[in-house]
Amino acid sequence: MYSLSGKLTNIAGVGQTVAEKLTTKNLLTIKDLLLWVPLRYEDRSQQKLIVDLVKDELVTIKAEVTSVSNQYKGRRSMQRATIKDNSGSLKLIWFNIPYIKDTLQKETEYFFSGKLNDRGMMTQPKIEKVSDDTTHTNRLVPIYSLVPGIKPGNLRRYLKEIVKHLDPIPDQLTEKFDLLSLNETFKHLHFPDNQNLTIKARERLAIEELLGLMQHSAEIKQQWKDSASAHLIEIDQENTIPKLPFILTAAQQRSIKEILIDIKSNTPMNRLLLGDVGSGKTVVAGVAALHTLQNNHHVAFIAPTQILAKQHLETLNKLFPKINIQLLTAQAKFSPSTKPTLYLGTHAVINKLQEIKPALVIYDEQHRFGVEQRSEISKLTFRPHALTMSATPIPRSLMLTIFSHLELSVIDEMPSGRKPIKTWLVSEKKRTDSYNWIKQQLQESGEQVLVVCPFIDPSEHEAFANVKSATEVFADIKSHFPDQKIELLHGRLLPDQKNKITKNLFNRKIDILVTTPIVEVGIDLPAASIIIIESAERFGLASLHQLRGRVGRAGQQAYCLLFPSSHSSEISQRLDIFTKTNDGMKLAEFDLQNRGAGDLFGTDQHGFDQLRFTNWTNVELITQAKKIFDKLKNKVEKVNGATKEASLGCGAAKEGALGYSQATWKSIIGPHLATPTAN
Ligand code: ADP
Ligand code: MG
Repeated sequence: MYSLSGKLTNIAGVGQTVAEKLTTKNLLTIKDLLLWVPLRYEDRSQQKLIVDLVKDELVTIKAEVTSVSNQYKGRRSMQRATIKDNSGSLKLIWFNIPYIKDTLQKETEYFFSGKLNDRGMMTQPKIEKVSDDTTHTNRLVPIYSLVPGIKPGNLRRYLKEIVKHLDPIPDQLTEKFDLLSLNETFKHLHFPDNQNLTIKARERLAIEELLGLMQHSAEIKQQWKDSASAHLIEIDQENTIPKLPFILTAAQQRSIKEILIDIKSNTPMNRLLLGDVGSGKTVVAGVAALHTLQNNHHVAFIAPTQILAKQHLETLNKLFPKINIQLLTAQAKFSPSTKPTLYLGTHAVINKLQEIKPALVIYDEQHRFGVEQRSEISKLTFRPHALTMSATPIPRSLMLTIFSHLELSVIDEMPSGRKPIKTWLVSEKKRTDSYNWIKQQLQESGEQVLVVCPFIDPSEHEAFANVKSATEVFADIKSHFPDQKIELLHGRLLPDQKNKITKNLFNRKIDILVTTPIVEVGIDLPAASIIIIESAERFGLASLHQLRGRVGRAGQQAYCLLFPSSHSSEISQRLDIFTKTNDGMKLAEFDLQNRGAGDLFGTDQHGFDQLRFTNWTNVELITQAKKIFDKLKNKVEKVNGATKEASLGCGAAKEGALGYSQATWKSIIGPHLATPTAN
């Protein structure tokens, strides 16, 4: 019998040499080999009589050997055999497999899996002794990715041996939740009785994987709460929301309420504020900041770019004139203030957190959702409340798993009066016409145009030959719009140059801004009403939606023109969906399905790609895993008896309820499967 942690040399037929070859693929234990998942299955399950054979059809025949021969031609050889069943006889032929002659015994029955060729023979059929439990023939046969030096048939043989003699794996999920046992799972992963069972097996492993993720998130959540206490922020109930120049939407009010409840506690908040571009997240964060400052604590506000930091400065000053704000830039260095202060800046602020000791940290437009925060904040000697804002919607499947360590507030409603942005997919032929139309618009309204390009400079790379760079587009636009003021803004400009351009932009001294997406994120230009996106196919739909949200912010009718630089039906279908959909969540779901989660979040930090069995679009399965997880969690809470907020992270109880201790949890499915690494 084999145990999961057993060495490969334990396997009958595997010696030191073979084990070393498997090591080259990081296969060290029995469990590793069990998780060497077939790439596909070849269907050799169809049994036929010789008389019924049809050309090119993969089948298995059960027949007796009547003759077998081996013929050498120089260093090459050819093997022939004749077989018969009750219906007729058939010629078989192999090349360069001389041992066939010694393997096949005359007057003995075998399974032969293969295809009939033009000349009515079967070439290179697989052979196996007749039995009820075959490995290579007469079934769905697993096809593995190659391990150098090991014959595919042998790999299959080792796995068959393991699966057949695997110790029962302790596993309480099976009985409690009516799932395949892990032993059955591994059997059907490698030697399924039918296709349906391969799916079941993979789903069972996906559940294992998902529970690992959920567990991991739950642990992070608990650690966050346990590690240190934050400042309790007293809320002035009379003046929860200050006087503002506009009426907050119901969603904004709800979000503010949720945040204020969180910070009115010593348990540190870790909340994500989600809202489409333009939904008004800044003011929500501002209200939380205001209360914190009124409690005589500092606040840190971290923006992704200098431009945005400056912009927040202006906005916050306007909305909350009483707040004392210090902008931290390369020029303006941190100086400790005795007055409660909101320190505003880019990433550099993070390095100052220990000195600032803010009671609240606000991250704007964070794409990494807490990864950085955790590692940065975990180094601090105190624990602030943390609020992360993002416009990238998080599909439900992700919210239930990798993001479940975060509390969630959603602004699912736009300030009134916003009009949907008219979006068009424009062909190159229509470029001049479009420019003429834009010219007319500019003359009529005096508004601004943004032109976004994927890169600054032309790329040498062949794959990007058609992609228009910002510098090229800048030249092109200048020649088309001789009377307009046009500027080029990108990340490589010196801070002074950038400052000048942004200032002119806000003062409406620039009509058309050509730029790259990095600079653009989150910027609020009320007068911008047209956005052109060059090489639009290079962006995910969620990113396009972000970019599109830069225009029409003052409630005017806005337009988005997409110019693709390469063409396929897939591209036009994707962009077409974009022109017709104004719902950020739908676009994110579409991205998730078609481009994967990594593309959606631009990060591999969360272990998206470490998942081997989970398909992020299978919401049903993920919901099922969540239910299981919650039931297990309840159970743990019961085991813990009186303890209020039990978590799965508590040693013995967890072991009792799940059947897995932390150690076994990881060792059953392996750290590479169970949990993505934190930080
Ligand atoms: P985002 O959620 O994209 O960060 P902002 O916070 O920058 O959006 O808000 C976009 C614009 O809408 C800002 O000019 C802001 O002052 C304004 N705004 C925010 N909330 C409202 C509201 N309830 N009514 C009208 N305008 C609002
Ligand atoms: Mg914003």
